[in-house]
Amino acid sequence: MLHDLFHPKTVAVIGASTKDLSIGNVIIKNLLRYQFKGTIYPINPKAPQIRGIKAYSSILNCPTDVDLAHISIPSKFVPQAIEECGQKGVKSIVINSAGFKEIGPEGEQLQKLAVETAHKYNMRIIGPNCQGIINSDPDYNAYCNFTFTYPKPGNISIVAQSGGVGAVIMQRFFDLDQGVRFYASNGNACDLSIPEIIEYYGNDEQTKVIVLYVESFSDPQEFIKVAKKVSKKKPILAMRAGKTEEGAKAALSHTGGLVDSGLAIDLVFSKYGILTFSDEEEMCQSAISFANQIIPTGKRVGLITDTGGPAIIATDSLVQGGLTLPDLSEQTKASLSKILFADASIANPIDVLATANANHYKAAMEALIQEDNVDSILINFVTPPFVDCEAIAREIVKISQLKKKTIICNLMTDRSQWGETIKIMNDGNIPCYEFPESAAKALTSMVNYRNILNKRETTAEVHHDREYSISQKIIEKAKSEKREVLEASEVYRILESYNLPLAKWAIAKNKNELIEVAKSVGYPLVLKADSKEAIHKSDIGGVVLNIKNDEELKAAANQISNKIQADDLKFFLQEFKPDGHEVIIGAKSYPGIGHVLMFGLGGIFVELLKDVSFELTPVSNVEAEEMINSIKASKLLHGYRGKEGANINSLISLISKISQLVSENPEIDEMDLNPVKSTPTSTLIVDARIKINIG
Ligand code: ADP
Ligand code: MG
Repeated sequence: MLHDLFHPKTVAVIGASTKDLSIGNVIIKNLLRYQFKGTIYPINPKAPQIRGIKAYSSILNCPTDVDLAHISIPSKFVPQAIEECGQKGVKSIVINSAGFKEIGPEGEQLQKLAVETAHKYNMRIIGPNCQGIINSDPDYNAYCNFTFTYPKPGNISIVAQSGGVGAVIMQRFFDLDQGVRFYASNGNACDLSIPEIIEYYGNDEQTKVIVLYVESFSDPQEFIKVAKKVSKKKPILAMRAGKTEEGAKAALSHTGGLVDSGLAIDLVFSKYGILTFSDEEEMCQSAISFANQIIPTGKRVGLITDTGGPAIIATDSLVQGGLTLPDLSEQTKASLSKILFADASIANPIDVLATANANHYKAAMEALIQEDNVDSILINFVTPPFVDCEAIAREIVKISQLKKKTIICNLMTDRSQWGETIKIMNDGNIPCYEFPESAAKALTSMVNYRNILNKRETTAEVHHDREYSISQKIIEKAKSEKREVLEASEVYRILESYNLPLAKWAIAKNKNELIEVAKSVGYPLVLKADSKEAIHKSDIGGVVLNIKNDEELKAAANQISNKIQADDLKFFLQEFKPDGHEVIIGAKSYPGIGHVLMFGLGGIFVELLKDVSFELTPVSNVEAEEMINSIKASKLLHGYRGKEGANINSLISLISKISQLVSENPEIDEMDLNPVKSTPTSTLIVDARIKINIG
């Protein structure tokens, strides 16, 4: 199906116009200008010809079969046009027209009708409200699109939810003299989905790298399924989606405040093997390396340079990205010292000096190709006016063509003077960057992709020691009473039913019960207000710590009831646990995706420094450990400067159990365990909140 869409031999343009400045006219101009290899049928009830091509009054009158039909007429006429396409036996439809779902219910209705009509005839739609597709294969030259960039053939395939961003990306590749294989912008995506297009690109032999721009998922599970599969076959590079502040505003918990829909998309990307970039430029630059070079087998880089400073900058950037510059073996050093200038620096980086000629470069590159310690080669090449730069470029290309190791270059030059050198490099598939950081970042993204390929798939542990029906009953009851925030007793019973480690607790319904209830908890204890008015308890004087006897308990209860005069006030008693690190573990639901779990140190670490890590459910133990180790303050949890650490294994197990708890109870919208207290020997939850979705 998708093959047909990208390989049309006859294209009809319904809504072809004689007006130069109209979409229906520009599509024909583009097909002509891109030298479309097939037949064009402008469809226009009045005009005899458009741009010199014979026009037909209806698609039904076209003399041959039609593979692809553009529809560029007012939306209300589109279903009828699709009906005629069906009768004609058209295979694929590009609806350029707007005026569908994006304008409201009426448009949505039209869109539905369009899809139904197309499916009746086994046709697929791209769009509506989209640009269309491009296939640069010279056998087709199919520019079924109304934009203005005419890519040369290549092996980067682009799919964009936003045509604007897609066009910017395509233009950038064009400016960088890089070819594009396929391009698709599918607007409202009423029928063909972005995952379907990704899957198609994944199966296309000539596509070496997929560049993706999405803002939202219409079906996250479809996306996840495809991403998981395709990312193992070829790199998928994506732009980080826009962030919204809405989630933060409405949040009841810390977790809810720190997680937003953009983050959820990012987490889907990273969990399922998509390389994420924060700007288009970096993404395009990395794509060029993937399109032209083999993927490095590891993170060890050999650097060749003819100038000092840029090599230092490149080194810093590589190391920051987690790459290494290993020492060269004695053997390599010995062989290089025979060939390079006496003043050259024979280490990593290898400084061949500005006066180095092609032979010097050749020797340095060959040495690094042979060096077992090195997986890729980065060349910092300033074009000195006193050496034969073209000869050096030819040497670099020759060695790259052996395809033994990844070779990329930071080519610092004046493009107008060294045009030939640049051309040799470009034609020879050497990715050339204008700054050491951009070269280093591109190489880093390739190593990141290697890590994705090498990543062992881990599955979340299934804990059987839990009573699932208890949580469901509690949630059902709260839902039926339209209560979003669960009461403390409900929260703690849910946590108990999943066998989570809790500090001993009990509830006194009133002051008279206090002393009796305290016996079951034991001193020292903590008294907390339990009321729907008291969500952030300590902020309003609802927490008294380290209560040592009955007298202190009564005083604390009076203090709390004076501060919080709520009708539903009860008293929550809990073991006092003064020791240990305070950590926060939270969850926030994302419909269709699952829950995002959050981990961090409590207190100012989460509130002020936002030093937290995230992962999507289901969270495996390996991922839980990564969550713990990826926060900046993780060293504290491992014990730092004589101070005791936390119990990492029990934290991992707690995260894993919470992953299961929220997955099995999808009604849980937000959950905060804040704090969880962890010492080297024990981990206990001392405060918890749960908010559910009441539908
Ligand atoms: P809230 O988050 O609603 O203000 P908490 O129950 O988290 O209330 O209590 C506030 C702080 O008191 C916690 O962050 C923790 O530092 C401390 N705390 C709470 N319960 C205990 C406990 N059982 N043992 C020791 N410290 C506690
Ligand atoms: Mg708390």
